[in-house]
Amino acid sequence: MERLQKVIANAGITSRRKAEKLIEEGKVTVNGNVVKELGAKADIYNDEIVVEGVPIEKEEPVYYLLYKPAGVISSVKDESDRKVVTDFLPADKRIYPVGRLDYDTAGVLIMTNDGDFANKLMHPKYKVEKTYFAKVEGIPTREAIQKISRGVQLEDFKTAPAFAKVRKSDAKKGTAIVELTIHEGRNRQVRRMFEALGYPVLKLKRERYGILDLKGLNAGEYRELKPHEVKKLR
Ligand code: URA
Repeated sequence: MERLQKVIANAGITSRRKAEKLIEEGKVTVNGNVVKELGAKADIYNDEIVVEGVPIEKEEPVYYLLYKPAGVISSVKDESDRKVVTDFLPADKRIYPVGRLDYDTAGVLIMTNDGDFANKLMHPKYKVEKTYFAKVEGIPTREAIQKISRGVQLEDFKTAPAFAKVRKSDAKKGTAIVELTIHEGRNRQVRRMFEALGYPVLKLKRERYGILDLKGLNAGEYRELKPHEVKKLR
């Protein structure tokens, strides 16, 4: 049993906030009774929940790994009609991304219609290892790399100790490719870390998310997660 607004949101009908509004407006019934109370609980399998006259059903859960290309929004729709990540996946289910990658960032993005799975992975307590390759302006010094391994002070918080290594450098162009593994996932964290150290990010790619990497995929392609992969991430 979960709170009614959460059940409605997890079924992909609408956001949790809008579900709360619908409940308060008396537009939701459970087993034939109008429920206006936000604390009410329900079970998608055993209760008949009807939202604005339409019964809701639990979809078969699906789990995908998308190789998100750069130049795509990590959202299910965009007001100015730019490309969004769901454009790359089958359109028969209400799938959404687990967290987000910036518009200009490419790489591993999990997509699912399983709200509990997504919420768990996105929770700050749940520390999935994410590895990024960043092309940066300038060639980070050993001292800069050491700072990353100790934690970088950003405007609002200090990052946890992380692993970083310069993988390639081009002295002529004055750029480098740096591998960085973090457990956190604050907004624009990788870009902000390098910016704070004086090495603006020119290009960013997430190579790995926990046990998942991009092997076998080109940008814009996806695959279903294997049952053991879903199990391991849970
Ligand atoms: N860190 C960033 O700065 N951007 C991303 O898209 C992901 C992590």
